[in-house]
Amino acid sequence: MSSAVCGQCGAFKDLPMQPCPACGHRPRGEERVLAYLLSSHHLTDEELEDASIRIVSGEKMDPPPELLERARSAISPTARELPEDPDEELPTSRLVGLVVVNVLFSPLVGLVAWWSWRHRHPAQARQALQVTIPVAVIGTLVWLFLTFR
Ligand SMILES: [Zn+2]
Repeated sequence: MSSAVCGQCGAFKDLPMQPCPACGHRPRGEERVLAYLLSSHHLTDEELEDASIRIVSGEKMDPPPELLERARSAISPTARELPEDPDEELPTSRLVGLVVVNVLFSPLVGLVAWWSWRHRHPAQARQALQVTIPVAVIGTLVWLFLTFR
């Protein structure tokens, strides 16, 4: 039986990446590394108990960098049991990059991004569509204007 401690409020939960039953916090991005460290993957039952008490008492968990690094590489092989976060959004830099590629090459790029992400990253796929459709519409209008003026 696997168990874990919420890095936000110190409550116990079954799996490190699931939403906390007490406070609803769900680890995202880098928080997943800390969530992994605060689980039975890494700590014994007593250590989990201890970590929970420290978080409840307001202590901030600040693992040393080498421990974080080890946890990060430990997460990858077990990624199967730590499903991708479906709500994770594209960083702004990648979104801007997608717009640039859409404008320079073809809005098809954005449609391909939407198509390939739609199951694993629904939020990112939606964002891709949101930036691609305006580019496609404006591109079409410009083309019509240039062709039929
Ligand atoms: Zn919590």
